[in-house]
Amino acid sequence: MVDLQTQYQQIKEDIDTGIQEVIDSAAFVKGKKVQDFAEHLQAYTGAKHVIPVGNGTDALQIALMALGLKRGDEVITPTFTFIATAEVVALLGLTPVVVDVDRDTMNMDTDAVRRAITPKTKAIVPVHLFGQCAAMEELLSIACEHNLYVVEDACQAIGAKYTFSDGHSAQAGTMGEIGCTSFFPSKNLGCYGDGGALFTNDDDLAARIKAIANHGMVVRYHHDMVGVNSRLDTIQAAVLDAKLPHLDEYIAARQKAAAFYDDAFHDNGNLTIPGRAPYSTHVFHQYTLQLGERVCAYRSDIQTQLAEKGIPSMVYYPVPLHLQKAYQDPRYHAGDFPVAEKLAGCVLSLPMHTCLDGEQLEYITENVLRVIKEVCKD
Ligand SMILES: *Cc1c(COP(=O)(O)O)cnc(C)c1O
Repeated sequence: MVDLQTQYQQIKEDIDTGIQEVIDSAAFVKGKKVQDFAEHLQAYTGAKHVIPVGNGTDALQIALMALGLKRGDEVITPTFTFIATAEVVALLGLTPVVVDVDRDTMNMDTDAVRRAITPKTKAIVPVHLFGQCAAMEELLSIACEHNLYVVEDACQAIGAKYTFSDGHSAQAGTMGEIGCTSFFPSKNLGCYGDGGALFTNDDDLAARIKAIANHGMVVRYHHDMVGVNSRLDTIQAAVLDAKLPHLDEYIAARQKAAAFYDDAFHDNGNLTIPGRAPYSTHVFHQYTLQLGERVCAYRSDIQTQLAEKGIPSMVYYPVPLHLQKAYQDPRYHAGDFPVAEKLAGCVLSLPMHTCLDGEQLEYITENVLRVIKEVCKD
């Protein structure tokens, strides 16, 4: 699904030098590279504050802690996402309230968000799934009307650009009170282990986030709040700092691969290509097809046949949150969120990374089309 080795070979010298400098300095925790990288990412994203942490899940958890949410407060998330989004809500004793998604963009359905708001609702956590921003303008206006916080899960969407109706634009993760991202190796900006960051434009929130990520400590060994220990390793910061200057190229390479896939699949009646929202660029963390009615029952056969040709494919995500065992809730039943349930049954993600060449793309698309055709015949 990803090719991190080829990408490494292209910038090996910068990465190796960066890592060696960290080892030479022996500043493995809170080394200078962490601050350097945070500043560079600040310049790239336009966020006023960037606070690096241990991973994307920690970033989400710290965000909700920094907003001072209390046990029982409701947090609205899409039901079609990676588990981390709801996990941190549950871990903090907050109540996850899930909503359905839009069939086309696979992102949070804004009408569903409106319907899900109760007097206990305190925050909305939109996920910019697969690399395309959720409908932020509408979500921010709903949040304003109801006095709610917005925490963006931008773990899959770093570098995606949102354009508001007045023409101004902003990057994924910089529009809500807090944005969160992940530097997991396969993410669009990935390190060689775990990493993550929070974005905020609010000075007070930035200070709280920094303290919470560091054991709730403001003055050394004086703990003003309950915190956690979540840091970006200096070695990972060195890797990220070497990769960040290439992020735009990486995004362009993903978009080029996506355009090739689109061309090959757009007029196939059994495949729906990823829908594009007019307000957001798509940075294609994943290229996710929807299989049509006639073929989706054969999804695992399709995957097996592709695997036989050496083509990996993945189902992100096979089970929506409300049907996960750990998140069972008497309020929710199968059938409650029909779009998410349908997507869980019909999505298929193809290999997507920065080093896909024309030959590979041709091989993948030819085989996908052949396998779909054969499934139809049976
Ligand atoms: C990857 C991811 C996370 C978690 O990031 P980690 O760094 O793996 O903890 C959270 N939400 C979404 C949508 C993700 O894709």
